[in-house]
Amino acid sequence: MAKKTPLMEQYKVIKAQYQDAILFFRLGDFYEMFYEDAITTSRELELTLTGKNAGDGEKAPMCGVPFHAAEIYVYRLIQKGYKVAICEQLEDPKVSKGLVKRGVVRIITPGTILYENSIADKSNNYLIYVYESSRNLAVTMADVSTGECWWGLWDKKKERSDFFDMLSVYSPSEAILEVSDDFYNVLENFTGTSLGGCLLSRYADIDNTISIPNEIMELDCVEVVHAYQGLSGYLKEVMKTAVSSFYTVMPLRQDCTLTLSEECLRNLEITRNMRDGGRKGTLLDVLDYTHTAMGARLLKRWLERPLTDVNQIILRQDGIQELVSHTTEMTVLEELLSQIFDFERILTRIETNTTSPKDLLALKASLKILPTIKERLQGASSIILKNVNKNIHVHGTIYELLDRSMNENGTGNIKDGRYIKEGYNAELDELRSVKKNSQQWIANMELSEKEKTGITKLKIGFNNVFGYYFEIPHSNKIPIPDYYIRKQTLVNAERYVTPELKEFEIKALSAKEKTEALELKIYQEIKAQIRPDIPAMQRTARALASLDCLVSLARAAATDRYVRPSIIGGQHGTISIKDGRHPMVEKANKSRIFVPNDTELNHISQELLIITGPNMAGKSTYMRQVAVLVIMAQIGSFIPAGEAVFSPVDKIFTRVGATDDIATGQSTFMVEMNEVSRILRGATKNSLILLDEIGRGTSTYDGMSIARAVVEYIDKHIHAYTLFATHYHELSTMALHSESIKNYTVSVKERGKDIIFLRRIVPGSADRSYGIHVARLAGLPADLLVRAEQILEGLEANDGKNAKDGAIPIQEDTPMNLFNSSIITELANVDVMSMTPIEAMDMLFRLSNEAKEGR
Ligand code: ADP
Ligand code: MG
Repeated sequence: MAKKTPLMEQYKVIKAQYQDAILFFRLGDFYEMFYEDAITTSRELELTLTGKNAGDGEKAPMCGVPFHAAEIYVYRLIQKGYKVAICEQLEDPKVSKGLVKRGVVRIITPGTILYENSIADKSNNYLIYVYESSRNLAVTMADVSTGECWWGLWDKKKERSDFFDMLSVYSPSEAILEVSDDFYNVLENFTGTSLGGCLLSRYADIDNTISIPNEIMELDCVEVVHAYQGLSGYLKEVMKTAVSSFYTVMPLRQDCTLTLSEECLRNLEITRNMRDGGRKGTLLDVLDYTHTAMGARLLKRWLERPLTDVNQIILRQDGIQELVSHTTEMTVLEELLSQIFDFERILTRIETNTTSPKDLLALKASLKILPTIKERLQGASSIILKNVNKNIHVHGTIYELLDRSMNENGTGNIKDGRYIKEGYNAELDELRSVKKNSQQWIANMELSEKEKTGITKLKIGFNNVFGYYFEIPHSNKIPIPDYYIRKQTLVNAERYVTPELKEFEIKALSAKEKTEALELKIYQEIKAQIRPDIPAMQRTARALASLDCLVSLARAAATDRYVRPSIIGGQHGTISIKDGRHPMVEKANKSRIFVPNDTELNHISQELLIITGPNMAGKSTYMRQVAVLVIMAQIGSFIPAGEAVFSPVDKIFTRVGATDDIATGQSTFMVEMNEVSRILRGATKNSLILLDEIGRGTSTYDGMSIARAVVEYIDKHIHAYTLFATHYHELSTMALHSESIKNYTVSVKERGKDIIFLRRIVPGSADRSYGIHVARLAGLPADLLVRAEQILEGLEANDGKNAKDGAIPIQEDTPMNLFNSSIITELANVDVMSMTPIEAMDMLFRLSNEAKEGR
């Protein structure tokens, strides 16, 4: 039987070592895929599947992509959850004899991809390593693109849910798991459903030779060291370079950060919205006025891990305050920051040798701004801005080197050349002048040849196949000299060469090759000179990111009329907000007025608020608003409110009743009860709990009983700040039995058969559910509504107990009775009919409020 061709033998040997990756096998100007890889790739990327004779009578399925456009194809495969191994020709095919040596130079995975534009600018790209020991879960996590590394340790039994919260907060794109089969399955299930995908692989090839950073050594924890070695070993394996240690190593868990449960992050839409998991409409979106990608990434991290330490919060507040009160300075800083590129990631590309000259120019442009930024920060008086200034270094020598060496006027791509400046290297300049002279030589040659032969239509041209040639159109009537050697016939011209032209060609091409080689060598040398300064420049990048975040929060405060909340520590916790607004709802509906509301929570008389009111009244919005304002305050941000006093909370939990919970698609009553049970186990006196319509997933009495028992339990055993929204107005009787439970309701006004939503939270409770009123607002047929009323009357009559039992009536502080003639006049001027009922009500409310204030 025939043997495989040598090429296919080589392919098979290499492929055998990279079973779990798609092998991009370099053949000349193409990367080719064979067999299964070809079938997969052609399907995923819609490439044509062809075949190659494999030698043993077999035709191997094959498809390919041009090498210079490979990045985009690799990127698309990575996005679809594959790994790609890049196999290059390791010797120059022009000079090697026989089969060219080939080898894999890099494996590209979702967590290690570094191509420009392949990872989102404004968020980190995390690769995580999980090591399960008999007791613990040890984690190391890296963002290869920025050179940052984190570690964490969780008790396997007691802190399992905290571990999963961490996973959903960071949502890594790739995970390497050294865990039991059982836990692997659990993680596979979790990342598939809750993270929207994350490439998992097993790896246990620990690299003992890697040097361990001090920050990890000092922990004196073998499990974390093991996880670090695992992560480093994996990186070495895929990047194929000895990975130098990370620039910064930080703990994932800190005592001084607020724990946000997965549910809470999602439900409050802090960094991802519920609709499509994107940024739009999130708190991050509202607060993000950053000007650099580094700042945007850091702001996201601030939001994912708010502070709990009063002093740290105040430090940030002071910085923001200083910026807000010096708006001219702030504008100047914004202008300067906007000229800074993402050099944190550029530095990593330099480190891993994946830069283009364009990157170095961007680095230069960024470094250029630094002295001016420092000058501007010179006068700062807040500690945090002073620190930022101290940590920004100008890196003058690197700037000068780049300024002297890098040409601004080229394309910035290696293949186009001319990226090294004229005057930087004498040898290069000389080679270039040879190249330039040869252009002159060609012009002279063309002229003299025309004179010699009398062929005026003669031209000199060049192409990659034939090199230089004379081109003479068929229309030429003058005889061709006999020393012209015919090379090619075109439709309307003939091409010739002469010995003289050939001789020139060899000289010119070698000059061209030499120039290219020297230019590349100089470029590599420049990068080598930069490398030792990378850690220091990374520190500068980090300081700039902090500055950008502070400026961003200051800009948000100035633009959206936010105020500085007072942050207090000590025993007597409080969450006290006057005229608070929901930042995202307010922003999403600029045309509509947002009704501000107060909140008072403390451990003395108002620990637990029961909020009743009909559907659509604004209960959920109000509760979320409280949690969102707490989070804003704890990242140091100013908040949309009249004034506020907070003591930091340690954890925030939210649970939204099953029927509202569309986002996960797994909204069963069981899931809800699991979550509630988790809250009851995890919450402390300093936690904030939001329970929104829990108990809806089962029968009314069943659900109401559970809801009631949950509230009682929190009130008796946990004493956490709790907001409990329910349309079971019957639950308001609980306030009669506890000092610390208070009833609130979102006020509505009944006008005949209509209701008007006032969106004002007032003490008291709703005495009914107003379901039929809401149905009327939604435009259900009149007959249907009449029938619903009949049914309700029947039910209420049959129901032994009085629906109004224990309910506290709404206080009559609603502004609707303040109507006066001026409002009526104003109303006549607007087209009420074109508004939605809710818009109309909002407008009425605004007008009546204005009337109250005598405007
Ligand atoms: P509920 O939970 O009581 O059913 P929601 O909180 O979902 O009600 O609010 C219903 C709608 O009312 C929301 O879409 C929101 O736009 C609007 N809304 C809520 N609170 C306010 C407010 N304070 N000011 C203006 N509009 C509000
Ligand atoms: Mg609701």
